[in-house]
Amino acid sequence: MAEQTYELKPVGVRYVCDKCGEGEMQRANGIVLTADPPRYMHACSKCGHRQAFTEVYPSIRWVSA
Ligand SMILES: [Zn+2]
Repeated sequence: MAEQTYELKPVGVRYVCDKCGEGEMQRANGIVLTADPPRYMHACSKCGHRQAFTEVYPSIRWVSA
């Protein structure tokens, strides 16, 4: 198969708090839960709600242009 190139564009991905629906979940002081896959602790910027995710937010994702 020949190599091909295609256009991508970066988009920001954030997670809005499940509890208050207003704040944004942000990585909390480096806490990683040793699960498989590992989970990263986050805290809401508004209400402080804590939740662990398998991804780190905010992040950048590449999507088709
Ligand atoms: Zn919140």
